Amino acid sequence: MNYLLIAISALFPAFLYLSFQILDKTDFLLEAASLILLTTIYVFGRTTLACTVKLGLVSLMVCKTHEFLEEVSEFKSLVNGNVVVDVFVGDVLALLGLALIAYGIHNMFRRQRRMAEIEPLTNTFNKRAIEQLSKKELDRSLRYLTDTSMILVDIDHFKKVNDEYGHQVGDRVLVLVAEHLRKQIRGYDLLARWGGDEFIILCPNTSPTEVEEVMTRLQKSIPLPIEAAPFDVTLSIGGTTVAPLAENQFERLFFQADKALYKVKNNGRNNRCHFHDLSYDI
Ligand code: GH3
Ligand code: MG
Repeated sequence: MNYLLIAISALFPAFLYLSFQILDKTDFLLEAASLILLTTIYVFGRTTLACTVKLGLVSLMVCKTHEFLEEVSEFKSLVNGNVVVDVFVGDVLALLGLALIAYGIHNMFRRQRRMAEIEPLTNTFNKRAIEQLSKKELDRSLRYLTDTSMILVDIDHFKKVNDEYGHQVGDRVLVLVAEHLRKQIRGYDLLARWGGDEFIILCPNTSPTEVEEVMTRLQKSIPLPIEAAPFDVTLSIGGTTVAPLAENQFERLFFQADKALYKVKNNGRNNRCHFHDLSYDI
C-alpha cells in the first residue's frame, strides 16, 4: 500500500506528461517531483510523524497536484475556472500545510524534550533533568539573593516490599509515594526520582524554617490504598538549606542533604533531619 501510493504519485504526472500537451515543462516536472517527495515523506513518516504534520503534508500534496495540473493545457481552464477555488487550493492550502507542519514539528520536539526529562514510572523529573533545572534555579537564587533548600527522601526497607509482595507492588508503591510527595510541595518546587527508592526535591526561595515545615508535611502518613499496598510505608527525610553565597551549590546541597538522610537512617529511620554544614560557609 505504501509503495503503491508513491508509485501513483509518480505514474500520474508521468501519464499526463506523455498523453497531454504541457505548457511549461520545467514547472510541471518541478511540481511533480515535489508531489513525489511529499508523498514519500508522508509514507515513510506515517508511523512516526504527528497527525498535524501528516495533515500539513496532505495539504501540500493537494496543492502541488493542483499546480502541475495547471501546466496541462487541456486541464488549465478546468482547474483555474473558479478564482475562489484556485486561491484556496493554490495559496491557502499551501500556507495551511506549511503552518501545520511547523506547528506539528514544534510540538514533536517539545514532547520529545519533555520525555527526555521525565522518569517514566513515577512521572517525576529524572536525575539529569533535576541537575540541569537546579543549576538554573541556583543561578536565579544568586541573582535575587534567596535561600535554596533541598530534600532527599528515601523509602524505608523498600527492599522488603519487593521481596515480600513482588516487584509490581514495589513499582506501585513508588508511584504512590511520588504522588504523595507531589501533593505536599509547591508548584515551583522540583521533584525528581534520584534512583531506586530515593527522591529529591529542590525548593527554590525556601528558608530553613519553611523547608522544615515541608519536611513535616512529607513525613505525614502516606495514604496507600489497601488493595495496592496492604502495609505501611515510612520515609526517611534529609533536608538542608544554603544561602546564595558560593559556587557548586548543587553539590553542596546534595552533600548536606545526604548527610542529613544518613543520620535519619542511622537513628532508626521514619524521621526527618535538617542539616546545615557551617564548615562549608565562607
Ligand atoms: P533502607 O531503609 O536502608 O533504605 O532500606 P531499603 O531496603 O529501602 O534500601 P535498599 O537500597 O537496600 O533497597 C532499595 C531497593 O529498591 C532495592 C531495589 O530492588 C529496589 N528498587 C530499585 N528500583 C526499583 C524499581 O524501579 N522498582 C521496584 N519495584 N524496586 C526498585
Ligand atoms: Mg530505601
